[in-house]
Amino acid sequence: MATALSFAIDARDGDARVGTLATAHGEVETPAFMPVATYGAVRGVSADELRAAGAQMLLANTYHLEERPGSEVIAGHAGLHGFTGWRGPWLTDSGGYQVTSLAGRSRLDEEGVTFVSSLDGRRRLLTPETAIQIQERLGSDIAMVLDECQPSGPDAAAGAGLRAAAERTLRWAERSARARRRAEQAVFGIVQGGTDSALRRAHAQGIAALGFDGYAHGGLGLGEAPAQRADLVASTNAVLPASAPRYLMGIGYPADLVDAIAAGIDLFDCVIPTRHARHGVLFTRDGVLKLRNAHFKQDAAPPDPDCDCATCAQHSRAYLRHLLRVNDTLGARLASVHNLRFYLRLLEEARAAIRAGSFAALREKVRAAPVR
Ligand SMILES: [Zn+2]
Repeated sequence: MATALSFAIDARDGDARVGTLATAHGEVETPAFMPVATYGAVRGVSADELRAAGAQMLLANTYHLEERPGSEVIAGHAGLHGFTGWRGPWLTDSGGYQVTSLAGRSRLDEEGVTFVSSLDGRRRLLTPETAIQIQERLGSDIAMVLDECQPSGPDAAAGAGLRAAAERTLRWAERSARARRRAEQAVFGIVQGGTDSALRRAHAQGIAALGFDGYAHGGLGLGEAPAQRADLVASTNAVLPASAPRYLMGIGYPADLVDAIAAGIDLFDCVIPTRHARHGVLFTRDGVLKLRNAHFKQDAAPPDPDCDCATCAQHSRAYLRHLLRVNDTLGARLASVHNLRFYLRLLEEARAAIRAGSFAALREKVRAAPVR
């Protein structure tokens, strides 16, 4: 099914690329980072603040929104764009990762994932078809297919499990493609295969043959070494269509982002900047600040003197530390605004460096900062 989504690559530097992703609700310059708006909001941060920080597209979690308030409610408000304060592009996940993470409360078979709702204890079934239907009601610009994420392991049984999960994900992807009804919503396929490079490449070829609007790398960030992940992403990208956007799901730290951009990734999402902010961990050019540490008690400097965000323009490390210590929600919000701006600015710098042919130098600078 052809959709309203288009993707044009504007510049390249090695395998890194700058592109324009045109969705039904606006353009996204890639590589781009999507702040995570689990329930349709980035916790404590307004749409105006997100725009000011440079956000272009947000990610919402289908499972959580289907639980509360329900996709029917959001459909009644003309989807996420009408229901929330964010009128720009939205991407939704399939909900599969959340339901299969409900330890001991979900069961997976060929039909889909049966799970016990954490909200009301009722048994529900998420299938490739219903995952698409829910996302169509949410009205996101980009929807994700339901996939089976199987952790890697060293033994043969884990290897057989990985293959079986990849094969099922492929069958589910075919069902997802057939379930689509809305031409204005793009759908991305997801590559699985754990840390088995040959399996991931074969799976990517199978998924790509189904002709999705874009492709995601799933099942990574689950304990593999960053260098191994970078190799897996690069070797899989080599068999994905070069003209389609590529999305690395749920990753990561700044160094992980520049490594993945170097391998040709176009889209990212991650909870790290906002989750770390709520714990008083701030990203800066010179590494991370743990603002709860006592030596920031009298520190009158802004969180990051190099930063152009609203928080750094007005507030000191000492004040942020104080707000976080007394659990005023303003502390988490100001810290979130800063960390999001740090990530979004990093992506702006990456795009400029790719256009200038100097991405390798930026990558080395980011990797040199002690940000773990
Ligand atoms: Zn800042």
